[in-house]
Amino acid sequence: MQVLPAPTFVDIVDAAARLEGVAHRTPVLTSSIANERTGASIFFKCENFQRMGAFKFRGAYNAVSHFDYVQRNAGVLTYSSGNHAQAIALSARLAGIHATVIMPHDAPAAKIAGAQSCGAEVIIYDRYKEVREEIGLRLAEERGMTLIPPYDHPHVIAGQGTAVRELIEESGPLDVLFVCLGGGGLLAGCALAAAELSPGCKVIGVEPEAGNDGQQSMARGEIVHIEVPHTIADGAAATHLGLYTFPIMQRLVETVVTVTDAQLIETMRFFAQRMKMVVEPTGCLAAAALMSGVVPVEGKRVGVIVSGGNVDLSRYAQFLA
Ligand SMILES: *Cc1c(COP(=O)(O)O)cnc(C)c1O
Repeated sequence: MQVLPAPTFVDIVDAAARLEGVAHRTPVLTSSIANERTGASIFFKCENFQRMGAFKFRGAYNAVSHFDYVQRNAGVLTYSSGNHAQAIALSARLAGIHATVIMPHDAPAAKIAGAQSCGAEVIIYDRYKEVREEIGLRLAEERGMTLIPPYDHPHVIAGQGTAVRELIEESGPLDVLFVCLGGGGLLAGCALAAAELSPGCKVIGVEPEAGNDGQQSMARGEIVHIEVPHTIADGAAATHLGLYTFPIMQRLVETVVTVTDAQLIETMRFFAQRMKMVVEPTGCLAAAALMSGVVPVEGKRVGVIVSGGNVDLSRYAQFLA
């Protein structure tokens, strides 16, 4: 298999050119209530308004856009708890190639339906019993398809980094940037962009308390593997960081903090009531950490990535009730 070099800021600029006119340039929103509560100037980069409802379209489309003729003919394969699967499905449809996605049995129905509606073949697996990486590698070999994993891939990381390039173009320099993490693809890409465009900006990773492998990995200096975490943040349920994402985090991320499911629900309510936005639990991680005050931000210019908005409406109603 081809081994690609680690991504750099140049790859983010290249990805931005490939995404131009294809991905949405999502809005950067402000909220006077958020500013009052924190004593800071907050800039929310709203990727819940991205195509397919999450930032994942950026990395997925960037990766597929690099395919050569042979790869295009065989198609793209991936595994994902949902949003990356949908993003690959849409990217493949736009590129006119076949997509197969491996999704967990308990993925939100809206995410499974989203992938199917783009014409992707969906294969369901049990995430408490089977290892998705193994299923993926086996299918890739059998079918000759190119596997694009959800976070540990240079083109995926570079694509995700375009979100912060757009954010800083609009907000100007930032003092602090909060980014959620599962496997760290978004965080690594955003950290690369921030380091270049707003040197000195402190990048804070945020993950669910129940799945703090990122925090443990940063503390120990090696990738820590955990059991599949039980959290409502289904998009951040990765059990370990990646070989590409972790070294970038070690170099460019200040610290990783955690928030509880209860804090996520409170933040979901904040977004619904005050900012009139539907944000999925995982998409609330970064804002929840900001609001919790675990990192001092008073008087600072602060970026917050709102990573996605795909949530089953019946579950959403329960969260808000
Ligand atoms: C995938 C995803 C994340 C986590 O991204 P990683 O690149 O795996 O760290 C966060 N939020 C949402 C909405 C996601 O879909």
